[in-house]
Amino acid sequence: MDAFARIVGPQHCLTAAADIAPYGEDWRGVLHNPPALVVRPASTAQVAAIMAQAAVQGLRVVPAGGRTGLAGGSVPVAGNAPSISVSLERLNRIRAVDGVDMSITVEAGCIVEQVQNAASQADRLFPLSFGAQGSAHVGGAISTNAGGIRALRYGTMRDLVLGLEVVLPDGRVLDDMRAVRKDNTGYALRHLFIGAEGTLGLVTAAALKLFPPMRARQTAFVAVQTPHAALALLGRMRDCGADLVAFELCGRRPIALTIQNLPGFRAPVPLTTPWYCIIEIAAAHAGAPLRAIIEDSLAAALEAGECVDAMLADSEESRAMLWRMRESTPDAQRREGPSANTDTCVPVSAVPGFLDDVAGLCAARWPEGHMMAIGHLGDGNIHISLQAPGVVPAVEWAARATGFDDAVADLAVAAGGSFSAEHGIGQSKLRQMARLKNPVALEVMRAIKGVLDPGGRMNPGKVLPGLAAY
Ligand SMILES: Cc1cc2nc3c(=O)[nH]c(=O)nc-3n(C[C@H](O)[C@H](O)[C@H](O)COP(=O)(O)OP(=O)(O)OC[C@H]3O[C@@H](n4cnc5c(N)ncnc54)[C@H](O)[C@@H]3O)c2cc1C
Repeated sequence: MDAFARIVGPQHCLTAAADIAPYGEDWRGVLHNPPALVVRPASTAQVAAIMAQAAVQGLRVVPAGGRTGLAGGSVPVAGNAPSISVSLERLNRIRAVDGVDMSITVEAGCIVEQVQNAASQADRLFPLSFGAQGSAHVGGAISTNAGGIRALRYGTMRDLVLGLEVVLPDGRVLDDMRAVRKDNTGYALRHLFIGAEGTLGLVTAAALKLFPPMRARQTAFVAVQTPHAALALLGRMRDCGADLVAFELCGRRPIALTIQNLPGFRAPVPLTTPWYCIIEIAAAHAGAPLRAIIEDSLAAALEAGECVDAMLADSEESRAMLWRMRESTPDAQRREGPSANTDTCVPVSAVPGFLDDVAGLCAARWPEGHMMAIGHLGDGNIHISLQAPGVVPAVEWAARATGFDDAVADLAVAAGGSFSAEHGIGQSKLRQMARLKNPVALEVMRAIKGVLDPGGRMNPGKVLPGLAAY
């Protein structure tokens, strides 16, 4: 404690139960296990000194970002020896915005929305966008390789990172912060840390890609009868002549729950069909004729039977309302009661069949639960959950829904997909990682972990099954 207090100041070493409790919980309210100490550095040099000191003392280190992760990655594993959490919340400076090179250099504790705003002030776009963007950190988004609603157009966080600064478990600083577009100087080390969920080192800063802003955009809420129809509509919108920046698929139930459980929402169209799409097209040119493009496309879709109703956002306010409604669905669902959740991705063409298979599975094995599906049809990442019938204790529903996540993961992998699309493995998907990840890939990952973190002190019990005992 004294050694860490000398590095960051005693006021940034938290040990009081009330202060450390939030670092021992996840957003879902399922995991509870506080660290022994929370250290809050304000510079890369302080992070390096903390990591060197933790190495000397043989301490386990758990990185904490905005703590919005959905796989328990920032929560110390219960039953392990005590850990220290290193929270990057004070490392939150925008270092540079470059509108010519189209890059922004930021510290890891910057909130994603802060980066969007800094880019926007320079008339540029940082495109990563998801429900927790007002709390999630850049470091957390990098470490989970966050995806979100615009991944179909701009890719996931991995596609947006040009360079990284990382403090390794022994305290060395790996400065790989170039912001250039081409750099073939050997292994692209940054990719090791993107999606590593803090198991290889602490990300302290990143150079990120910027894009021209969306000076024109149009957003629509569209009622469709089936995921097959939604898929046909997705194909149409991809070819519409504007940038398709989002194409979400939502079951009726998550939308209805959001309207019912949260204030300020109303149904954009009568909720008479089982499925809805939220579609956004955009252009960098303010005068691009997007209204005509989306109206023509949806009229043709109606004619072809791909959709049955549509509402076009006619103001920035109604556009924002549609996205707030979409992004509030996890919260509305959480208020409704506990649910078993999944984060699968299948090839876009396989989504309708996959949803049919999961519906069949739920009807056969958990008829009392409510299947909820919502996600990013544009990239094949649909979140399917099994909602408890009413308010029951989370532990009880977890027991009754045992096997749901495994069964859905099996169906996704059988369809050529992934059992973890954008939330990561954390401690929630270790079993699936052991069962479903290619064994050679696991061997290589363990070898890399062994080189960078031979003591197994970085976020132990996460990502790699079988290493929890370190
Ligand atoms: C309502 C809601 C909606 C969401 N929607 C989406 C979505 O659409 N798409 C999506 O991808 N995710 C989504 N998420 C999940 C979550 O927001 C993302 O995973 C986010 O990237 C996590 O960032 P964070 O800063 O909160 O990370 P944390 O939860 O703090 O940490 C996540 C992991 O990264 C590690 N970590 C954090 N910071 C660092 C660092 N600086 N260096 C090394 N390791 C670090 C942690 O140890 C942990 O393993 C959503 C979450 C919520 C609550």
